[in-house]
Amino acid sequence: MATTRDYYEILGLSKDASPEEIKKTYRKLALKYHPDRNKEVGAEEKFKEISEAYAVLSDDEKRAQYDRFGHAGINGQYSAEDIFRGADFGGFGDIFEMFFGGGSRRGPMGPRRGSDLQYDLYITFEEAAFGVRKDIDIPRTERCSNCSGTGAKPGTSPKRCPTCGGTGQIHTTRSGLGMQFVSTTTCTTCHGRGQIIESPCPVCSGTGRVRNTRKITVNVPAGADSGMSLRLSGEGDSGEPGAPSGDLYVVLHVKEHPFFKRVDYDVITELPISFAQAALGTDVMVDTLHGKVKMNIPAGTQTHSVFRLKDKGIQYLHGNRKGDQLVRVIINTPTKLTHEQKELLRQFEDLSSGKNPEGNQNGKDERSTEKPKKNKGFFEKVKDAFEG
Ligand SMILES: [Zn+2]
Ligand SMILES: [Zn+2]
Repeated sequence: MATTRDYYEILGLSKDASPEEIKKTYRKLALKYHPDRNKEVGAEEKFKEISEAYAVLSDDEKRAQYDRFGHAGINGQYSAEDIFRGADFGGFGDIFEMFFGGGSRRGPMGPRRGSDLQYDLYITFEEAAFGVRKDIDIPRTERCSNCSGTGAKPGTSPKRCPTCGGTGQIHTTRSGLGMQFVSTTTCTTCHGRGQIIESPCPVCSGTGRVRNTRKITVNVPAGADSGMSLRLSGEGDSGEPGAPSGDLYVVLHVKEHPFFKRVDYDVITELPISFAQAALGTDVMVDTLHGKVKMNIPAGTQTHSVFRLKDKGIQYLHGNRKGDQLVRVIINTPTKLTHEQKELLRQFEDLSSGKNPEGNQNGKDERSTEKPKKNKGFFEKVKDAFEG
């Protein structure tokens, strides 16, 4: 039975109220007068009235008719009863979901997908740089092979649930004062599966799933690094019958290397050399990921100088590029000196401080001049003494 009161008056709005105002006001009033919340006498009548007013005023076309012809324009077309019998008015779904959790508006609760799993995989520096295949043991839920995941004892099959008729859902209709409220819940007999198992599979106890530890091969690509996670699609827990399995995420942890440090795709190493090697220059063999490499230390190299060995770093994850190896030279100052070493260093100091006419006065451009021939014998002696 439709109301005869003015719709704007019912909602307490003026004739030029915006659709947003109408919606907002309706929500507020509907929450206040909903019969589930408000047990006062007349609340239910009031609720029907505001719902009817909203059904008309929230529809542009009906509102225009109502504005021109009043109740005559929409007479008999919209009543609260119609609304609750399922007529779908724009914006009405929101309020429905506020009351009923949206059960009937959403699709049926299907079987659940399996859980995603995570595995922490520890690999060495070299394994990350060059890639590696690893077999890992994953404890997970799998489809029961005895019953092929149906949960029914072999030779039997699951029966359609008599409570819900196989839909997995129960529709409850409550009515009062001409209104019908329909709510949908998951069937408690079959837990939404739509089927019941009379003779359960003895292996999985009717769940269709069993716990198992599965060996899985993980291909870690060259260039992988700590914190990266590899997704193995479908290798997580198996889902409920009819639903897909979850995924397995393998999270990489790269162990520290005693000599190599990594920055992006470059490898950083430190190379200790003697002060004589640094002063005179020398060739050294440097360890890289790709084997030993000869590297020249030019004469006059300062401590903490960095030399770049091109393409001796780590393979990029994408593309064929490689990073470089950066070698930082550390000059060791000797702490224990023999008598001969001390004597030579004193001579060296005398030469450096200008007592020798061929010595360098300001000590700056030694490298740019040719080595003094007379001193060569002296430096060779230094080198021999320190490299012994
Ligand atoms: Zn089974
Ligand atoms: Zn059922």
